[in-house]
Amino acid sequence: MKCKRCLEPGIIDIRRHNASFCGDCFLHYCKEQVRKTIKEHSMIFDGEKVLVAVSGGKDSLALWDILLELGYEVDGLYLALGIGQYSQDSHAMALKYAQSKSLKLIEKDVQQALGFSISDSPRIVKRAPCSACGTSKRHFFNSVALENNYDVVATGHNLDDEAAVLMGNVLRWDLSSLSRQSPCLAAGNGFVRKIKPLVRLSEREMAAYCIIKGIDYIVQECPMSKGNRHIGLKEALNAIEDRSPGTKSAFYLGFLSKALDSFKQEENFDFTTLQPCKVCKSPTPSELCAFCRLSKKGPSVVNNR
Ligand code: SF4
Ligand SMILES: [Zn+2]
Ligand SMILES: [Zn+2]
Repeated sequence: MKCKRCLEPGIIDIRRHNASFCGDCFLHYCKEQVRKTIKEHSMIFDGEKVLVAVSGGKDSLALWDILLELGYEVDGLYLALGIGQYSQDSHAMALKYAQSKSLKLIEKDVQQALGFSISDSPRIVKRAPCSACGTSKRHFFNSVALENNYDVVATGHNLDDEAAVLMGNVLRWDLSSLSRQSPCLAAGNGFVRKIKPLVRLSEREMAAYCIIKGIDYIVQECPMSKGNRHIGLKEALNAIEDRSPGTKSAFYLGFLSKALDSFKQEENFDFTTLQPCKVCKSPTPSELCAFCRLSKKGPSVVNNR
């Protein structure tokens, strides 16, 4: 197929848009999708400083690159999770990108702060590693952004990620999660604004973006992701998408435009119940925040937050 935009030979087909693009026009398409998402959800305002959570994977590195291309002031945050070779390789990729463009990359050692690694967390806290990982990520994304005066934290969740999470929430009618499944969570009550500017772009498109731009990323999935229920949901959605291109984006983007507001009205979280955590000052409904409760379960607690 010819490129939809310039009529040169296309190198990538986007079936849900019934379109093909050449390399340059594909990069333009990705940027425009992100620009549109940022505008539609009022994600970033003029002069704001953005902190992008960088894992070394395709999504977060593409996001950092696109936000810079769109002219935003963006630094990176890398969390060392202590997941063996995977963490070492992902760190190398994040650092390589940052150094190639002389960008600032803030690094935090989650293992040191928790007193145990994410790989060891199932043995110590008797829960899936993704649970301790998610708690740690939420904690550091917010606390590092606040400490360093960033206005907004951006994460690389893409269309496939968000559609799978939505499907899981719908299958369980988890109203609380549905009410918060917005690509832009407002700042306030001790929380910085959190945004997901890649929600209009697929995993495959983010891989293509990195390949065309020559951005090296870690291809290997996190070894802790085995058994993660979102993988099964992604496979189910991919099977549907294969037969009916466009279903995935219609499902997720339709939720945002037609249903999210009604779920928000159903579930109104009472922020007045929040107080500063006794240890780290993060907002929490109990004396200690989830991260500090988690770190107390480890063999030692290191005050390095
Ligand atoms: S798969 Fe789980 S443990 Fe691995 S990075 Fe993702 S959330 Fe963390
Ligand atoms: Zn073109
Ligand atoms: Zn705390």
